[in-house]
Amino acid sequence: MRRRRLPTTILAGPDRHWRPAACHSPGCPPGGRFDLDPLSGHLFLARTRLGDRINGGYNCRASGGPFLMAFAFPTYRHPALVTYGTGSVKSLASSIDQQTVVFMSGSPPVADYLRRAWAKSGPQLDDLTVFTKPVGEPTWRSVQDTATSLTDVQVNRIVAIGGGAVLDWARLVWAASVGAVNAAGLEAGDWTEARQRVSMVLVPTTCGSGAEAASVAVYLLDGRKVPVVSPILLADHVVLDSKFLATVSEFTLACSLADALSHALEAWMSIVPGRLPREAALSCFRLILREEPHHERTARLMDAGFLGGVAAAHCSVGVVHAFAHSMARHGLGHGHANALALRPALRRLIELPAAVALTRELGVGARELDAQIERLTAPAVCDASSRHAVAVLSSRADRRALMEAMVADPCMRTCPASFSLPDLEALLDDVRDGVTQRC
Ligand SMILES: [Zn+2]
Repeated sequence: MRRRRLPTTILAGPDRHWRPAACHSPGCPPGGRFDLDPLSGHLFLARTRLGDRINGGYNCRASGGPFLMAFAFPTYRHPALVTYGTGSVKSLASSIDQQTVVFMSGSPPVADYLRRAWAKSGPQLDDLTVFTKPVGEPTWRSVQDTATSLTDVQVNRIVAIGGGAVLDWARLVWAASVGAVNAAGLEAGDWTEARQRVSMVLVPTTCGSGAEAASVAVYLLDGRKVPVVSPILLADHVVLDSKFLATVSEFTLACSLADALSHALEAWMSIVPGRLPREAALSCFRLILREEPHHERTARLMDAGFLGGVAAAHCSVGVVHAFAHSMARHGLGHGHANALALRPALRRLIELPAAVALTRELGVGARELDAQIERLTAPAVCDASSRHAVAVLSSRADRRALMEAMVADPCMRTCPASFSLPDLEALLDDVRDGVTQRC
């Protein structure tokens, strides 16, 4: 495995950060040669390697280069209002009215908790318009079907309550209902006025996906994950109520923590510049790793998941997520896949300067960090369902397809190390052995 010496892509994004402001060199590639990374929203210069940053721009060693690109200052975008603390979902009761539409999963414990939380001062959940997400990841069909129903409803507030899939589904349904996204996952039409008329409230019930912090939502189309990146998807209000964590199993909590830790690690290690999101990544780590009584720690995990989401939304992620995205076709859950790949990936990154800086900031040694992650993710890694992943990783054909998918995954572009096919082979061996030898 080679350490990547130079960033290989231009890291920029419309309305996000490191936006290219101008190209100063004759022959600089026109806008049409930029690739928008649909997952992270970063803008990449196609077929280009970049050199050192010069005079506020980058020296781009493209085939006809070098070109000098100037960049605007980085920006940091996150939801305008965050209400947090145990029981904080009660704070929504006074603002919910008949023009509020609720999106939920079919989880009975979540509905029970909401009924109790809003019983005194709020509306009855059963009197509101509620859409329940079909089981599984959002598909374009389920988004479209619900969007059709939503067009007949007067809406001034969307309240989405659930895991990352519910938060993604709700935002996409609303965006599709006003014609703001199309089946290709692209923005369509002029949605500004429609967006101003609705308040988007996201209430995560797990502490992993970070979807509540991001302007990205993902749906399945023909077995592929299609990410939609648009400021239309950024929440106006996020509510972080850790009481929801009492409704999830030990397995789900471990998957969520693995996802949050992967966001924090991969955003911190990412080649995308960004001081503010890196501070969010550090805080995510500290909140999860801090030793404190169980109930106090639980109260902080939802905050940690949000901060990890903020970090990943700005800096993108890396090889752990490339593995998770590629295993989705085999039915392995996102957080579960992250739990399997996190420690094997960390072992490969731990000697890079960014990882050394991370352990220094956290005040832990590399071994201690690994041991803490092992403990936190064990209920996910050692779950019986991990055997399915072992079977996939033991099949030569599946492994080949998996590695090809990982190489093509946009997350690999922001990974601080390049992985050759033998490197990926060794990583997948480690992932498989991590289950078979440990559990
Ligand atoms: Zn993730």
